[in-house]
Amino acid sequence: MKLPHDQQIQLLRLQELETEVVQVAERIRSSRAVQLAEDLERRSQNLRADLVRARTESEDLARAIKRAEEDVRRLQERKRHDEQMLGSGVNAKVQRELAHESQALERRIQSMEDAELELLENQETAERQIASLEGELTDTEARLVSAEQDRDAELSGLGRQQALVESQIREIVDGISAEVLARYRSSRNATGVAAAVLERGQCLGCRLSLPPGTAADLESKPLDELENCEECGCLLVRGVS
Ligand SMILES: [Zn+2]
Repeated sequence: MKLPHDQQIQLLRLQELETEVVQVAERIRSSRAVQLAEDLERRSQNLRADLVRARTESEDLARAIKRAEEDVRRLQERKRHDEQMLGSGVNAKVQRELAHESQALERRIQSMEDAELELLENQETAERQIASLEGELTDTEARLVSAEQDRDAELSGLGRQQALVESQIREIVDGISAEVLARYRSSRNATGVAAAVLERGQCLGCRLSLPPGTAADLESKPLDELENCEECGCLLVRGVS
């Protein structure tokens, strides 16, 4: 294919710009600022979920404690009532029954108070966990805000670079005929290179040296003759030092 040498240079420029687009996309994808913001966002979400669970547990415990307190109060009232009856001159049989019930009530009250104490301890633990989670969440969210600012600053720089490169690509593509562009596209090799310089018999697209005969044959052709690398298939531009 014949192509004026200055247009071949444009194809090299197009190749450079397309490589840059891929590199910028890779920098966006692998940006530490992006990853840090994602990590902190995930951490915040996990902490918020842990907090919901811890608060629910604490509320459940508060309800259980209230129930236990009411039960103890009810049993104590009954015990007081029994004791009043005992002091009101009832007969010996009733006295025995009341004394027996009073002892049983005392045992139940004791056991319920022990259970209530355990619930209170559990709630204290849950409250400590909530405070610790809240502290960690506040800290993580503050770090997230700062990480998001860093990420946005970095992405906006990379975004501007991407937009600039893409507009330069459009400009070059607009100046290239459809036929040449199709040839350029179809010459893209496995490593994504469509056009490269031939320098001292070496294709800079695949970094392989062409057989001496092939290289000499290529070098002897007019510069406006556009050939493909027989190793990788990309377009070879000569006369560039
Ligand atoms: Zn090659």
